[in-house]
Amino acid sequence: MNEILSGKVKTVYDVPGEADKVLIKFHDKVTAWNGKRVEFPEEKGKVCCLISAVLFEKLEKLGIRTHFLGTEGFDALLCRKLTIIPVEVIVRNIAAGSIVKTTTLIEGTLIQPPIVEYFLKDDAKDDPLLTYDRVRLMGIDPAPMKERALEINYHLQSLFTLMGIDLVDFKLEFGYDVHGDLYLADEMSPDNMRLWKRGTKERFDKDLFRKDEGDIVKAYKYILENLRRFA
Ligand code: 5GP
Repeated sequence: MNEILSGKVKTVYDVPGEADKVLIKFHDKVTAWNGKRVEFPEEKGKVCCLISAVLFEKLEKLGIRTHFLGTEGFDALLCRKLTIIPVEVIVRNIAAGSIVKTTTLIEGTLIQPPIVEYFLKDDAKDDPLLTYDRVRLMGIDPAPMKERALEINYHLQSLFTLMGIDLVDFKLEFGYDVHGDLYLADEMSPDNMRLWKRGTKERFDKDLFRKDEGDIVKAYKYILENLRRFA
């Protein structure tokens, strides 16, 4: 199969004979600090792929357009081919990570109503924070992404609440199909969201790896098992 692009932990392939589809393969690999730290935990690709599949399927049922079309084996997603918007959209419900480093907010502060932020998707520039107006200047309308991100947040929060998990924050990527319709893209897993046991800071996400605090595959499997029960 022809490789279209190779990311840090996923590879995107053409699907022979299906010009409007791609195959996204998840690798047993985790990186942090813009690729400076790397490990290869067994089963990690499969668990992230299956969590993404459950969440995309759930969101589709709730009327959110996603690129997800199905799974191929346990470690690959069949998806709509999109032109990816080079903006990472972050939703925050609780202060953690970069917002704590760059503002006066203290980790754990409730952010109500939730906020949406935009970062440039460009590793060479270290994904800098953008403003709403800068996104517009780049020729991209942030309004539909913001609206969609808040809807997704509402649905994900409801689901994780059932599991006794606080959805702290998460990153989304969007893309357009050939008709100019907006779709949710990329993956949806604890690699790009922060998940804390309700009312605590016990983590079930990639911060375990970033901070060298524990086994991410074990934590991600706990999330997958619970999603299968509640989604
Ligand atoms: P922060 O801005 O606090 O670093 O990240 C906010 C949320 O977005 C976290 O859940 C984090 O995992 C996710 N996130 C931000 N940037 C990236 C990125 O480049 N890759 C991934 N996988 N997740 C990201």
